[in-house]
Amino acid sequence: MNTPLKHPRTVEQLVAGQATSDGAGVKLTRVLTQPLQRRLDPYLMLDAFGTDNPDDYIAGFPDHPHRGFETITYMIAGRMRHRDSAGHEGLLENGGVQWMTAGRGVIHSELPEQQEGRMEGFQLWLNLGAKDKMKPAWYRDFQSADIPQFTTAEGVTVRVIAGQSHGVAGAMQREATEPLYLDLLLPSGARFEQALPAGHNAFLYVYRGTLAVGGKEVPQQRMAILDNGAGTDGVSLQAVTPARVLLIAGRPLGEPIVQYGPFVMNTQAEIHQAIHDFRAGRFAAAPE
Ligand code: FE
Repeated sequence: MNTPLKHPRTVEQLVAGQATSDGAGVKLTRVLTQPLQRRLDPYLMLDAFGTDNPDDYIAGFPDHPHRGFETITYMIAGRMRHRDSAGHEGLLENGGVQWMTAGRGVIHSELPEQQEGRMEGFQLWLNLGAKDKMKPAWYRDFQSADIPQFTTAEGVTVRVIAGQSHGVAGAMQREATEPLYLDLLLPSGARFEQALPAGHNAFLYVYRGTLAVGGKEVPQQRMAILDNGAGTDGVSLQAVTPARVLLIAGRPLGEPIVQYGPFVMNTQAEIHQAIHDFRAGRFAAAPE
């Protein structure tokens, strides 16, 4: 597990993301946008939000539906209350993660539980394969202390949200897509290596400081898409300054992706069905 990499991946592309707003006017940066869904299969979206101005977040995300994928929300700072039609409720705060499987349908709200102060975090969308899209909704909250973490000899703190790193199993595992989701805190100059299967799509997002990957600098607020070269065995990072970075990878589903807002299915007919079911109130039904 800790043998040095022989053929680390390189940076294929740097992506700045797009400033946008969602929900009832929450300002955020869409880092992983729709045109990158195929390239970064099984991931559909990554939003970064971070602001000290309550006007940017106070309205939150009132009731809205999802079908066909999973949402993974990671809070760095601030407090968000989640409620959904399957009867789940939870408070998400500093360092905590909420993993929600929308499956065949859920209606939920994500509302700030603070009037002032910093709100910072990420929401990642992980696709479900055709066979899993219509499974019942599922949900779990992880408080910060529930996220496995370790510190390397070079002083890198690794928070393992999903998958495995250096023998440490993360809070969540998924068989179909084998998601890896790490939050790394690197002191200046520290190196970190992570094994990755060559066939898995992988990217990182630097949210503090500057990083170098194979000699290429990745500045703050940039996503680096990592190449999938045959024979590559992982990624090697070095912090140029003290840095914090999300490292995300997974096995592609290789299925058609049809998205209509909060519904992500395999065909247009399934999207029409989702809209029909939502309008008919079938998302609000009690869960199994
Ligand atoms: Fe949502």
